[in-house]
Amino acid sequence: MTKKCYKCKEVKPLSEFYCNRSKKDGHQERCKRCQRDYFKQPKAKKQRRVRHHTDRQLVLNLLGHCCALCGCEEERWLTIDHVTGGGKEHRKERSTAGTYRDIIKDPDAKKKYRVLCYQCNDVLPLCDSEMQLLEAIEREHNRIIANFVATVQEANKE
Ligand SMILES: [Zn+2]
Ligand SMILES: [Zn+2]
Repeated sequence: MTKKCYKCKEVKPLSEFYCNRSKKDGHQERCKRCQRDYFKQPKAKKQRRVRHHTDRQLVLNLLGHCCALCGCEEERWLTIDHVTGGGKEHRKERSTAGTYRDIIKDPDAKKKYRVLCYQCNDVLPLCDSEMQLLEAIEREHNRIIANFVATVQEANKE
């Protein structure tokens, strides 16, 4: 299978075109080389950033603006967890931007995905249960707060 690039007009094998499910033949109009050049333009970069931000907000509107486990509300720390696993593969196949779009379109999104903060997302695989994770977080937070209070008290003494 070959395809003519709409930018450079060269006929190339289909493997020289990135996948795009929304196109008729499942591939981009531009060949990979032209697509890469296009993405390097400042205008395209900005467009992608805006789109990425909008899609991320839509996902958070759908799934919630806080961590489903610890309740963390720092938006920049939030990430999407695939409840049934397979998150890494999904992101690898579809990129983060593609993953967001899949979630927005999925009528069962709330069953398949949830919002976690990076801390919970990273630590959960090391814990036996979500309860154990929350207990560990509570211990850590108490320790951090105690340290902070001690530092402030120490500073006030001087
Ligand atoms: Zn081309
Ligand atoms: Zn969390």
